[in-house]
Amino acid sequence: MSRLIAKEIIDVGRRLTEFLSSCTLCPMDCRVNRPAGETGNCHSTAEIKIASYNLHFGEEPPLSGGGGSGTIFFANCPLFCRYCQNYPISQMGTGRVVGLEELAGMMLELQKRGAENINWVTPDHMLPMAVTALGLARREGLDIPLVYNCSGYEKVEILRHLEGIVDVYLVDMRYNDDSLALKYSGCKNYSAINRAAVKEMFRQVGNLKVNDRGMAEAGVIIRHLVLPEGISGSEGIFRFLACEVSPEIYVSLMSQYFPAYRAVGDVVIGRRITVEEFDRAVEAFYEAGLENGFIQELNYEEV
Ligand code: SF4
Repeated sequence: MSRLIAKEIIDVGRRLTEFLSSCTLCPMDCRVNRPAGETGNCHSTAEIKIASYNLHFGEEPPLSGGGGSGTIFFANCPLFCRYCQNYPISQMGTGRVVGLEELAGMMLELQKRGAENINWVTPDHMLPMAVTALGLARREGLDIPLVYNCSGYEKVEILRHLEGIVDVYLVDMRYNDDSLALKYSGCKNYSAINRAAVKEMFRQVGNLKVNDRGMAEAGVIIRHLVLPEGISGSEGIFRFLACEVSPEIYVSLMSQYFPAYRAVGDVVIGRRITVEEFDRAVEAFYEAGLENGFIQELNYEEV
């Protein structure tokens, strides 16, 4: 994959901006006029709102490394996950409005502080502005990889604009059952949309490639958060990955679920997962024929 140059990236940002005036940036298709101040499911106008930016050492090993992942948390989110562990940012919109140059400056500052990569957390609804700012930062010397850390509820037609811009896709696969996706995250037709997005990402950047220090340079990493009562449908998701994407794809199997936000007190998701539930997900990973990944216990272990 060859990277676009700064000017080309800024042009892509401009093209993506055209989606905002009747917003169809994500599968929610709200068709609101965001530059005019209207908001849809993501509660976002065309302004950039950033919750925080910092070096983060808790990501998967090829992302954190010694320098840390340069995470930038975008405020708000198109999804409504009842259990969101970042709900003050995603659902309550904690953050402050920044301009394009300031966002570009954050990326450059993170690189200067030693970040291994720039890691956009939930950028989907801010994509035109984020891409434009990236172009400005590339023009000023940003040269570390870009990680697109997203929910996986993405449109293929939008993802196609990111070819040559995103180096690493860090993408969730949360459910194998559309009724559960609707119930717990408020999104329709989840499986087909999520699977098509993962296939497009894999087409663009392929399997994980690391440099001689073991740091991610390009590729897809799937994140799968194991939820209580089999809600996350691990077996079906892993079979899909092994059969329809690649048995070599990297999967990050996450055990960190705890009840937050509207999951607190819920009779089904109001508890942590059991050891047995996580073990079943690990078994499903191997039974599907998957070969590569990270298993989150106290720290990540590579398999
Ligand atoms: S980005 Fe926001 S306004 Fe646009 S379609 Fe998605 S949820 Fe709706």
